[in-house]
Amino acid sequence: MTDLPPDNQKLYEGKAKIVYETDNPEILITYFKDDATAFNAQKKGQIANKGIVNCKVTAHLYALLEKQGMATHLIAQTSDRTLEVKRVDIVPLEVVVRNIAAGSLCKQTGLALGTPLSPPLVEFYYKNDDLGDPLLTRDRIAAMHITSSSQLDRLVDKAKTVNTVLTDFFATCDITLVDFKLEFGTDAEGSLLLADEISPDTCRLWDTAESDQSKRVMDKDRFRQDLGSVAESYQTVLKRIQSQLESDPS
Ligand code: UDP
Repeated sequence: MTDLPPDNQKLYEGKAKIVYETDNPEILITYFKDDATAFNAQKKGQIANKGIVNCKVTAHLYALLEKQGMATHLIAQTSDRTLEVKRVDIVPLEVVVRNIAAGSLCKQTGLALGTPLSPPLVEFYYKNDDLGDPLLTRDRIAAMHITSSSQLDRLVDKAKTVNTVLTDFFATCDITLVDFKLEFGTDAEGSLLLADEISPDTCRLWDTAESDQSKRVMDKDRFRQDLGSVAESYQTVLKRIQSQLESDPS
């Protein structure tokens, strides 16, 4: 599998991925970069082979979710860093599910890091870098005409299903799924599909067997907080997922 970006027309370049067009207008290629950003791109760097890990982790998790009946935009992994995906119109919301308090939730509410959240929280953030991806309410989403109330209900249902499937799967990898961010889009037929990626860039993942906070973090917080061994932790996440899938391919 090649590491080179495909020789196609670039449609869009984001912080961690590049999206390319293909001969088929309904099919795109996403290329996963090693570039890492945090704090709305105020902190920038690279994580060695992060693109390969995130591409593979996304492909594995989307395949797992598809098996459980969750429609995603993934068609196939076409190289170490590329996924072939269905073109979708992205709903400009980041749907965040939280099982344990961390990150912005702790900062904004004073909840202590590690507080269990039962039932899990489902939150919406506006995908808008200029506004700093603000937290939205249902009323704000309605006022902004981002999506209908019934589609929002479907997003919440899907996010909860993803949480159940992934929490259970990560548990078998001895990883605690603390929180994660999802994006959704509608395809040419109007179907709502899970899109973008699910990876150590977009999830908080804690090593279940470790209680020391600076040691148990296996995700992008290692980069955000300069905890060291960033690339190694990403590799460990991928290895645990792969060995779990090999030992239980069902
Ligand atoms: N997240 C993400 N992209 C964003 C913001 C958040 O993937 O633009 C993920 C983040 O990695 C974490 C979850 O969403 O797993 C919740 O993030 P939070 O709101 O706590 O924000 P942060 O502390 O990351 O700024």
